Amino acid sequence: MNPFDQHLQAVLDERRSLHRYRSRPHIGSAQGPELEVDGCRYTAFCSNDYLGLAAHPDVAATLAQAAGDWGAGSGASHLVCGHSAEHHALEQELAAFCGRERALVFSTGFMANLGAVTALVGRGDAIIQDKLNHASLLDAGRLSGARFSRFLHNDLASLRTRLAAAQARRALIAVDGVFSMDGDLAPLAELADMAAEHGAWLMVDDAHGLGCLGAGGRGSVEHFGLSQAQVPVLMGTLGKAMGTFGAFVAGSERLIEALIQLARSYIYTTALPPAVAAATRVSLRLAGEQGWRRDHLRALIEQFRLGVESLGYALMPSQTAIQPIVVGSDAAALSLSQALKDEGFWVSAIRPPTVPEGRARLRVTLTAAHSRAQVEGLLAALERVKAVVAS
Ligand SMILES: *Cc1c(COP(=O)(O)O)cnc(C)c1O
Repeated sequence: MNPFDQHLQAVLDERRSLHRYRSRPHIGSAQGPELEVDGCRYTAFCSNDYLGLAAHPDVAATLAQAAGDWGAGSGASHLVCGHSAEHHALEQELAAFCGRERALVFSTGFMANLGAVTALVGRGDAIIQDKLNHASLLDAGRLSGARFSRFLHNDLASLRTRLAAAQARRALIAVDGVFSMDGDLAPLAELADMAAEHGAWLMVDDAHGLGCLGAGGRGSVEHFGLSQAQVPVLMGTLGKAMGTFGAFVAGSERLIEALIQLARSYIYTTALPPAVAAATRVSLRLAGEQGWRRDHLRALIEQFRLGVESLGYALMPSQTAIQPIVVGSDAAALSLSQALKDEGFWVSAIRPPTVPEGRARLRVTLTAAHSRAQVEGLLAALERVKAVVAS
């Protein structure tokens, strides 16, 4: 066999033997709590559509109408001729929503993290990250060429040690606002203080906080009341609570102008379709105005946590829509997921390397589109399949 074929086959065989082979469920319906997966209907608890806006009729209608006006594609990168009036208006609205001077729309969150981190730090600098940060932030740190270190999850003493050892021109501390696999929050107020004390900058990836946290849905920085000076680099994604696609970085006029010059994942890529920007403007407005979505989500989180705890499952200390049930081994996570599937519930098992060894879990996510009855149904199913974890 060719060395590539040999290598690829070995990787595939190993993944399979470790119960870590990944495959893609085929979805046959619009996003929502009732999902068609591989031809069967399930009640799903695994999307990041936290506010239930992905299939909102006003958002979808705007997408369709704007596609009529603007066409399907943007045609070019932002710096050439792809930066439409819709992109520009979305940027202004995002900046206002987050209480920042400016915002810059990227085509994906992965690219926003990559572009921002590599523009801000390089050789001679330091990038310091929480161990549990999203893969895109970690990869950005490695690719930046800056001295890369990780501190223990949410551990300020561990961060202080790394900062003291950094000896860099500039140090960037980067964290997730809400950790995507655990659902807990970063201690942003303390992190902002520590950054200021060391002359470092704090960057927050608020993919899972935006839309959900804070009275107005402005995310982690609203929840903790943090200004642009305290969190100079704020990143958010549009494919989760906003229900569409894309991402942005928000901060000072100077930061955004510098990213336009320097961020390679901004410069060398096609702008997202203007119709997506137009649809996102509608979802941003709905996210701000419809506080009942957050209220309902919070009520479901409480209902779920109370129910699961009384069943004796191990929950994590999360107050967000991400409510993981950690079971330990990969095989146990897979069989629990399968048992729920047999009961008509779709909840994905998350295994290493996405989470640490021995911490495989079901990642239950709740959304404002779920009903109390659907959560009740999941709890009843979890009770019926409890033997699977116990055995
Ligand atoms: C989803 C996610 C991203 C990536 O965003 P995309 O727009 O999906 O590329 C980045 N960071 C975190 C924490 C995420 O959860």
